[in-house]
Amino acid sequence: MGKTVVKIENLVKNYAELRALDHLNLEIEEGEIFGLLGPNGSGKTTTISCLLSLLSYDEGTIRIFGETMTPVSYDLKSRIGIIPQNVAVLNELTVYENVDCFCGLYIKDWAQRKQCVDEAIAFVGLEDFVKFRPRKLSGGLLRRLNIACGIAHKPELIILDEPTVAVDPQSRNKILEGIVELNRRGATVIYTSHYMEEVEQICTRICIMDRGKKIAEGTKDELKRTIKNTETIYVEMAEPDSTVFQKMRSLTHVNDVNWADGKLTVGCAGGRHNLLQIMELIRSENLDFGRVYSELPTLNDVFLTITGKELRDKNERPEEPTAKKKK
Ligand code: ADP
Ligand code: MG
Repeated sequence: MGKTVVKIENLVKNYAELRALDHLNLEIEEGEIFGLLGPNGSGKTTTISCLLSLLSYDEGTIRIFGETMTPVSYDLKSRIGIIPQNVAVLNELTVYENVDCFCGLYIKDWAQRKQCVDEAIAFVGLEDFVKFRPRKLSGGLLRRLNIACGIAHKPELIILDEPTVAVDPQSRNKILEGIVELNRRGATVIYTSHYMEEVEQICTRICIMDRGKKIAEGTKDELKRTIKNTETIYVEMAEPDSTVFQKMRSLTHVNDVNWADGKLTVGCAGGRHNLLQIMELIRSENLDFGRVYSELPTLNDVFLTITGKELRDKNERPEEPTAKKKK
């Protein structure tokens, strides 16, 4: 076990009547890319704000690097890089000046600072935009600037709050690769998102949150092992009659069979040839079918099993930029 970087115990945060965090416990070790995954409103940003002492909280304790953070813990803050959910840059300054300004909060030596700023700008790929002001940048480039501002002082702990929302695919990949690279260079990372694919892709350990509570925690494989169905098979076809349903359900490894919206869904546990078995039955019954595919469990299935609802709207496309930001 590595050193503990963050330890949150029994954290409770109320916004008036609303309990945003409900006895949350988290322990994050050095070297992790720790994912906080949960739908909008589950309490991710509130957790980060409490952690950074930007918000007061009602109950519980938080230790960072073994110490208690206060609003004036500048030494602790200098060891942390924060990339906030809402892009926080200064619109009157250029890209270079923005990174320099944030870096300057922690690094006073001019030469050292210049090197850090140049490195951070190169790291996020904004070399060609150093003289631009933020409002001239696309959503993706603005996110990258936000990141450069947070990492230039080379923090040991980097916290990114939904850094890929409304970002084009190219910037998104660059951001995800960048996070992995920062971790490889030694930073511990806390990464919040409601995109399960991203969390799965980069996080070494994941806490799934819902309504201010931790509902599951582990590596992606540990989390998926909690799912009953190890494979779900989909067959586009007309609704089969009840005898076919019965035959299908009696196949070995088949857990549940449902039909809805022109699609048969078969949940299987274990077994290596589930798809073949099912197609064999469909052939022997001489049934017509359209598209056929098989899916392994996702973190959405984990969430669905525990909460009975979807982690996110299936039609939501993370790669599509949403409306333009601000004026
Ligand atoms: P997430 O980051 O996971 O989307 P948040 O931490 O922003 O979730 O919000 C958790 C809950 O707290 C939500 O129900 C949200 O509406 C509520 N909330 C967040 N900030 C405030 C605030 N300043 N005042 C009142 N309620 C808030
Ligand atoms: Mg948030």
